[in-house]
Amino acid sequence: LNKARLDRFLAQYCQISRKNVRLILAQNRVFIDGIVAHNIDEVIDTFSLITLDGKVIQENSAYYIMLNKPTGVVSATSDTKHKTVIDLLDYPFKHELHIVGRLDLNTSGLVLLTNDSRWSERLTLPDKKVAKRYKVTLQNPLNEEYIAAFAKGMYFAFEDLTTKPAKLTILSDYQAKVELIEGRYHQIKRMFGRFRNPVKALHRCSIGNLQLDSRLDEGQSRKLTQAEINNID
Ligand code: URA
Repeated sequence: LNKARLDRFLAQYCQISRKNVRLILAQNRVFIDGIVAHNIDEVIDTFSLITLDGKVIQENSAYYIMLNKPTGVVSATSDTKHKTVIDLLDYPFKHELHIVGRLDLNTSGLVLLTNDSRWSERLTLPDKKVAKRYKVTLQNPLNEEYIAAFAKGMYFAFEDLTTKPAKLTILSDYQAKVELIEGRYHQIKRMFGRFRNPVKALHRCSIGNLQLDSRLDEGQSRKLTQAEINNID
């Protein structure tokens, strides 16, 4: 990620001398992301919106999108067989985006996309323990044993690991809410597989504080609000 000191940035992009930079800052003429800038040594990055006398000298080029992924669409940026989540988007910058936590082909719901990898890491690094919530529809009825088994964790021999405590809430005979703080390969399907109970439908409702907007139909997306971008941890 490119970072620069404000005085060097203004000197380079606006041909303003260091001395004049001090003057301009003292006159409240420079704003970074809407906040007046006063310090010559303020560190800015490529994602900051910078204005001088109200004119944009660097655009805010960080993008944050939420998508309601339908089933049958692959969480990848390119694919030879299936439509991708990128294909569903209609933004000029869509090819710059990466996916923040994939979903299986036949899983629906919240997918986040951004070009800001510092932001996406705050949601995906394992030590952040961000909760991902899913609504699961099962083929066979649920019972209380599932709750304990999900909380205790399950050993997956293939990866030689035990899943972290997961919270299962029974919503009805055939529906549960599951909260994971990790995302192993086909994790939810494999956990219900231990009970020989096939998952009929899987839908992600939220990632951390970010809820899928209920106004988004399947396949629809929107930009995150500034409050949503800021409120991830
Ligand atoms: N668990 C799964 O099995 N699939 C997903 O897409 C997400 C969690």
